[in-house]
Amino acid sequence: MRIDLHTHSNVSDGTVSPDTLVHRAAAAGLDVVALTDHDTFDGWPIALTAADDTGVVVVPGAEISTRLRGAGVHVLGYLLDPTFEPLRDELTKVRDSRANRLARMTQLLTEAGLPVDVSDVLAAAGPATTIGRPHVADALVAKGYLTDRTEAFDRFLSEGGPAYVPKYALDVHEAVRLIRAAGGVAVLAHPWGRASRRVLDADTIAALARSGMDGIEVDHEDHSAQDRAALRAIAESLDLLITGSSDYHGTGKSGHELGVNTTDPAEYERLLERAAASTRVAGRGSPLRPIP
Ligand code: AMP
Ligand code: ZN
Ligand code: FE
Ligand code: FE
Repeated sequence: MRIDLHTHSNVSDGTVSPDTLVHRAAAAGLDVVALTDHDTFDGWPIALTAADDTGVVVVPGAEISTRLRGAGVHVLGYLLDPTFEPLRDELTKVRDSRANRLARMTQLLTEAGLPVDVSDVLAAAGPATTIGRPHVADALVAKGYLTDRTEAFDRFLSEGGPAYVPKYALDVHEAVRLIRAAGGVAVLAHPWGRASRRVLDADTIAALARSGMDGIEVDHEDHSAQDRAALRAIAESLDLLITGSSDYHGTGKSGHELGVNTTDPAEYERLLERAAASTRVAGRGSPLRPIP
């Protein structure tokens, strides 16, 4: 059984629609794929319909933008009730802040000699309901200024870069609590990737576990073999779930092909058990209920 628990569609900053994503997962020989767009559940209905067509099991989720001591940290929430208002309100706040920073970002880019408007970014974002820096990058590429997203991040958009503008993100412990209160399972995404490595030492990960975090994404392309071994040991010492995923973004991120990392079926089973228990404790409805 092949299981990939972290992918993005064009509802956020991936480049394929949720149904194409599920069809590609089938073609890639995956049995289970989680759709985890940034800060939104909007792709769920289409992905779940495609699941019925292909026989691939789709795990509905989201990758939530959080902050810890000034650094961006991503938390994956799975199988939660998408109608839970306190979480929905926070995600709306994050998405609004993402949209509101575009005026400043495009101004900074224009001043840096790359004239670009908010409307160019929105055109590049197409159907996305969560707008991110990758869409700003796509607008710069469409204008012929740059080659790809990587160049845009390296030269302008990364934290500390000349066109970087921070967005609102919720406190990481609060995000974990909200995912659990919505009946879901919380997994720390690529903890030792670019932005979050500085703030996520073993003690901080233990503190997150005390706040209700269920697991760690150990097998991810941002982690070296050494990182993976160390994170696996931390997860085992805290009795946390261990996941592996591609963080697929279509053509938006090279080296992250579907299934490049996968989750052990036994860990996936544990995740499903945790989700059932979490839903029961929270007294929430099914995550598969249509979003009003
Ligand atoms: P944002 O959501 O606006 O904070 O942008 C973060 C997103 O940009 C994440 O989903 C990353 O996958 C993506 N990203 C970060 N660095 C790069 C890069 N060098 N090339 C392509 N995508 C990147
Ligand atoms: Zn992304
Ligand atoms: Fe991420
Ligand atoms: Fe991601």
